[in-house]
Amino acid sequence: MEWDWRRWRRKWLTEPLYRMAQGAMPRLSATEQEAIEAGDVWWDAQLFSGRPDWNRFLATPPAKLSPDEQAFLDGPVARLCAMLDDWDISWNRYDLPPQVWSVLKEQGFFGMIIPREYGGLGFSAYAHSEVVRRISVQSVTAAVTVMVPNSLGPGELLMQFGTQAQRDHWLPRLARGQEIPSFGLTSPEAGSDAAAMTDTGVICRHVVDGVEQIGILLNWRKRYITLSPVATVLGLAFKLYDPDHLVGDKTDLGISVALVPTDLPGITIGRRHLPAMQAFQNGPNEGKDVFVPLDALIGGIDKAGHGWAMLMSALAAGRGISLPSLAAAACVFAAHTAGAYARVRTQFGVPIGKFEGVQEKLGRTAANAYLVEGARRFTCSGLDMGHKPSVVSAIMKLHATERMRQSVNDAMDVHAGKAVIDGPSNYLGGLYRALPVGITVEGANIVTRNLIVFGQGAIRAHPYLMKELQALADSDQEAGMDAFDGLIWKHIGHSAGTMLRAIGHAWSGALFAASPKGVGRAAPFYRRINRYAAAFSVLSEMTVLSLGGSLKRREMLSARLGDILAELYLLSAMLKRWHDEGQHEADLPLVKVCAFQGFSTIEKRIDDILHNYPSRWLAGLLRLMVLPPFTRVRPPTDAALAGCAQILLEPSEARMRLVGEVWSNCNGRAVEDLEQAFDLVVKAQPLMDSVRHSGLKDWRVAHAKGAISDQQAQVLEEAEKAAARVIQVDDFAADEFARSGH
Ligand SMILES: Cc1cc2nc3c(=O)[nH]c(=O)nc-3n(C[C@H](O)[C@H](O)[C@H](O)COP(=O)(O)OP(=O)(O)OC[C@H]3O[C@@H](n4cnc5c(N)ncnc54)[C@H](O)[C@@H]3O)c2cc1C
Repeated sequence: MEWDWRRWRRKWLTEPLYRMAQGAMPRLSATEQEAIEAGDVWWDAQLFSGRPDWNRFLATPPAKLSPDEQAFLDGPVARLCAMLDDWDISWNRYDLPPQVWSVLKEQGFFGMIIPREYGGLGFSAYAHSEVVRRISVQSVTAAVTVMVPNSLGPGELLMQFGTQAQRDHWLPRLARGQEIPSFGLTSPEAGSDAAAMTDTGVICRHVVDGVEQIGILLNWRKRYITLSPVATVLGLAFKLYDPDHLVGDKTDLGISVALVPTDLPGITIGRRHLPAMQAFQNGPNEGKDVFVPLDALIGGIDKAGHGWAMLMSALAAGRGISLPSLAAAACVFAAHTAGAYARVRTQFGVPIGKFEGVQEKLGRTAANAYLVEGARRFTCSGLDMGHKPSVVSAIMKLHATERMRQSVNDAMDVHAGKAVIDGPSNYLGGLYRALPVGITVEGANIVTRNLIVFGQGAIRAHPYLMKELQALADSDQEAGMDAFDGLIWKHIGHSAGTMLRAIGHAWSGALFAASPKGVGRAAPFYRRINRYAAAFSVLSEMTVLSLGGSLKRREMLSARLGDILAELYLLSAMLKRWHDEGQHEADLPLVKVCAFQGFSTIEKRIDDILHNYPSRWLAGLLRLMVLPPFTRVRPPTDAALAGCAQILLEPSEARMRLVGEVWSNCNGRAVEDLEQAFDLVVKAQPLMDSVRHSGLKDWRVAHAKGAISDQQAQVLEEAEKAAARVIQVDDFAADEFARSGH
């Protein structure tokens, strides 16, 4: 009889492995399973494979605006921006002015993601992101107000899961701003652990206008809900029960989502929170015995109990747009203003941008702006290709907002007192105060970093792991083992190949790693990403294998692995930007600083992971394989950082590419003053230098002595006056602080 190798392998190798893995691998709760299965994978999966396909990567079409989208930016968005006075909004009104609310509703700002057939603008992810970006630098309050209806709230949910009747009814009303939506998930007891909410819906019979109906009796208490105080409809998440089995056999149906008009009896709404002194509408709401018909459930009764999966799926797209767009704008704005201010402000007789200490901050903000903006564009390309990449969206939410925090803090340091003193002339204060909002919402960053990026990514984006876990959890053991047999051997082959590559790349310093054609001087960076992607793949495999289910509790290890994946994503997106913009030589300092910063972060994370690895011998072996001492990279040099700072300090095309259009078309009077002063100071600089070299301290003396002409004196005087305007800060009469009514 012929020896059947496959049967032998299944019986003697696969079966023991299957049993062993069933005990060792993490068991996922139903909620975790739903969260992991939400959305899809994209470039993250390529990075996870340890061998990214760069040709496919470079073929990704760059995000582009259609003529209609461009016209919307040039028209309604520019006009809206010109109406936004953030100081007035935050300090005087604690709200957007009525005319701004009208424009937002009438011009379709609340319906950017709603398809045109329902009366929405039907914008691409990129256009949606551009709108949020432009508004963000004018007013965080206005930006957040626009974000909510275009993310969870609940247009996206309706489009993905609503019944036709629900879409027909709600989408046109939401698109024209006839309904103001908000989304209620968070409650006092359930923040990060939102699935632990105590808000309930009980399916019951209820008499409405003399007629008995089957519907849901809701009781809830929510807080932190954006737009809640002005909402006319609430997308409400709650736990649904059917104790009398009116719709089926199950009593506990699970988390569900319903659309609840806010004027129903039993609802208390309208009170406001004050989030970090930002004036966007945010507040608690409560419902006591509120009755809604069954068809208030988004997606109808068929979607009862699927609320968590629906939310995760809607977030998979939205989380990649709203906050990353605000953060990208904030990074660019921080770089722009810090650079211009450092050129205009003089101390010790020279512009402060000449001091290395200031250049360090400027260099970092310049590189951050370049990288986060590249990542925003690349992510929008993926979304516009139809992906809903949940891991990428989480990476973007986390890392864009963390870099925004770093950049805005750096810009604050460069401006010092000028940015500390609040008032209409302070163009950074609003963004600074808003930092914790970005860090906290849509999944607070600690949870996102420690639990989500690698926690989900390891399973979702790994080429085999998710299918293997499904096979291990299969209630039909024989079918599960068949599937496992088909997967595990391919997995082992893949891992062995990756391990060899990781060792080769690590020991050769990525010298022989492949890089795609046509990437010019960025080729070594592609090679290095290949090196770290292979190392990451090996480390991930080994960590999941050696820690199994306990990895969930080792959050610090998981966070560092997530950071490596995130760096790989952000760096590749940054390289794509350089490529798509035409590989400008002048931008290379930015590319280099981003690359060396990212690579050294990756190596530091690998080092820290191995330093904290539970198994010392495995840590030693892995260190030898992926982090040999003689091919380590170092962070960017001082000169490289100074080179990036220089881009912000001199007018050039590179500066315009970096900070160009985010604030243009806007009503940033203080920023306009700054930009004007920057131009005048740059123009006056050669004259200033010649006066100084001639031994005369002041241009007035030089003018009096005839060393410079009247015209030259005028140039210098204009520059001086413009600089003096910029360094002014606001002051207030004491009674202005004693106003009532706020
Ligand atoms: C301005 C603002 C607007 C908001 N808008 C809305 C909205 O429109 N709709 C809505 O439903 N919600 C909204 N939220 C709620 C927001 O999503 C929550 O604040 C967020 O999920 C965190 O919950 P929490 O604030 O209760 O923090 P907690 O859950 O109490 O967490 C506190 C800290 O512990 C960390 N943490 C918790 N669990 C873990 C863990 N397992 N591992 C590691 N760290 C952990 C968190 O990261 C956080 O840093 C908003 C919040 C704010 C502040």
